[in-house]
Amino acid sequence: MSRPKISNAIKAEVRKKCYYGCVICGNPIVEYEHIKEWHVEKKHELENLTLLCPMHHSEVTKGLIDKDFVSLKSKNPYNKGKLLSPNYHINYYGDEFEVLLGSNTSKEKHFTDAERVIVRFMNRNIITARFEEGNLLISLNYFDENNKLVFAIHENEMIFNLNSFDIINVKNRFILKENNRTVINIHIAPPRKLVVSTLIMKSGDLELSVTEEYINYCGTKMSNMHSSYNGGAAFNFN
Ligand SMILES: [Zn+2]
Repeated sequence: MSRPKISNAIKAEVRKKCYYGCVICGNPIVEYEHIKEWHVEKKHELENLTLLCPMHHSEVTKGLIDKDFVSLKSKNPYNKGKLLSPNYHINYYGDEFEVLLGSNTSKEKHFTDAERVIVRFMNRNIITARFEEGNLLISLNYFDENNKLVFAIHENEMIFNLNSFDIINVKNRFILKENNRTVINIHIAPPRKLVVSTLIMKSGDLELSVTEEYINYCGTKMSNMHSSYNGGAAFNFN
């Protein structure tokens, strides 16, 4: 009998109960792990599933951490009660930084360590990035249509006020969902690229919708364009 896939609904429950990070160290890069071996339990029960980062996952596999410890940590995950998730370091190097917004590109050569605005919408910085000692630090401010800040990441530290949001990590991709709808899909592509393949935002009557093919801003579609910083934002929507 082959091992059935864990359903998306169960995965969402697991992320929520584990506070969106490894139960041992809080790392947002996660894998789904069975506390008791699947051939013992034979079901993907919510209580039997947990989140581990690749390092702690491999320590369990190698027998350096025992399952009882994982079980204990699952009941009291590292991120529980914390206001911020731990800072995750994204290794970046080279002399060029490329950002993709849908099919639109912004390339910057010989960049400095100063913070750069990647997406600006209605005079607010939505996505910004900064380099520090070879690491990329991303900040994100997500506002709802009433201009209320509803989700934030500050320099790779997620602020735990998720309300109706779910954050999903698959390999090097992060997906932010609001009530089951994908509003942000960011893909980290080292050594020097960041890809925003989905960004959905609204402010009053103004609507910005980024898909892999194009940017739709208030009915105007843009695709395969090159945008430059010129001291401002890579992509500015006013
Ligand atoms: Zn860990």
